[in-house]
Amino acid sequence: MADIPFLPYGRQSIDEGDIQAVVDVLRSDWVTTGPMVERFESSVASFVGAAHAVAVSSGTAALHAAMAAIGIGPEDEVILPPMTFVATANAIVYQGGTPVFVDVGEADLLIDPTLVEEKITPRTKAIIAVDYAGQPCDYDSLREIADKHGLYLISDACHSLGAEYRGRKVGTLADLTVFSFHPVKPITTGEGGMVVTDNPGLAERMRRFRNHGITTDHWKRSEKLTWSYEMTDLGYNYRLNDIQAALGVSQLAKLPSWILERQTFAAEYERKITRLSSVEPLFVRPEVSHGYHLYVVRAFSRAQVFQKLRHAGIGCTVHYPPVHLHPFYRQHLGTSEGICPVAEVAYRQILSLPVFPNMPPGSIDRILSIVSQVAGED
Ligand SMILES: *Cc1c(COP(=O)(O)O)cnc(C)c1O
Repeated sequence: MADIPFLPYGRQSIDEGDIQAVVDVLRSDWVTTGPMVERFESSVASFVGAAHAVAVSSGTAALHAAMAAIGIGPEDEVILPPMTFVATANAIVYQGGTPVFVDVGEADLLIDPTLVEEKITPRTKAIIAVDYAGQPCDYDSLREIADKHGLYLISDACHSLGAEYRGRKVGTLADLTVFSFHPVKPITTGEGGMVVTDNPGLAERMRRFRNHGITTDHWKRSEKLTWSYEMTDLGYNYRLNDIQAALGVSQLAKLPSWILERQTFAAEYERKITRLSSVEPLFVRPEVSHGYHLYVVRAFSRAQVFQKLRHAGIGCTVHYPPVHLHPFYRQHLGTSEGICPVAEVAYRQILSLPVFPNMPPGSIDRILSIVSQVAGED
């Protein structure tokens, strides 16, 4: 077993071009927020078709900036699904707001729009849609609800950069769309994040927010030959640097081919999984182009499937424990089992199988032959 390399559930792809782009910045005059950050922002904005992009130091910082930009505060509630990474909810709490969990649909584990309206109160200010696994949510339904009640629609698209909904790219489907560039995400900058929007006012607030609440950044001041600056709001140091941004620009050029590669792997899984009775893929809605950040299945003897795969050096894992069941949220919000039953049942079954660009040939056969040993398959 020792000679078989460990196969992670996801990993970055970094080539010589990426390395050269980083080295070029290291040899230049600007290493922190400078011209390369602006270039990365305009590259992502034009790739998704958004007017503005604000790069920050992580997806979590991007979510926090989004919550601050729309003015979330102690009086406000924000609706979100529990089937997400904790950072989605934490960003609301950073601003003193209250996360309100709405269950997901059983087939795709995306926020169920038919359950949203009953959770809207006079304090509700926004809905965060999470494109779980890389599949865009039902944005037409969510938009209609948001407009009817005067709410912001935020997209946590940390999984879905490059995915599409009814022929429209993720990044154009919500008032603010948040991306992460953590190494397992669709593209990486090591750590990094971005928010895209068509709203110039929100973009300006987020630019200040990432830089201590100061109105102009150091690079802009140096360009304009002025020393003066003003801090107008309380902000943070959430800046991305030029070293990271150069990697991001280089990575973004490869994203379309990586999405196709992920979709090809998913199609292979789908085809071969139909022969097995122990696992079942999640439903993919026909109106989306899925980004397949994760390839998630329901496994009917999950503990057994998980153990067998892990023993064989295959890094399957579970995304996600429902956020409302974490000890912090149980204590902070008084949440418990029963408030989102679909997510809670799914959590006992789901398993993320490896999928990433340049996954070694034969990986899916290797994975599924192990899966097939469980539950009487042959
Ligand atoms: C990764 C992720 C985040 C946080 O992004 P970081 O860059 O790790 O801070 C937030 N939401 C979701 C759904 C994620 O997958």
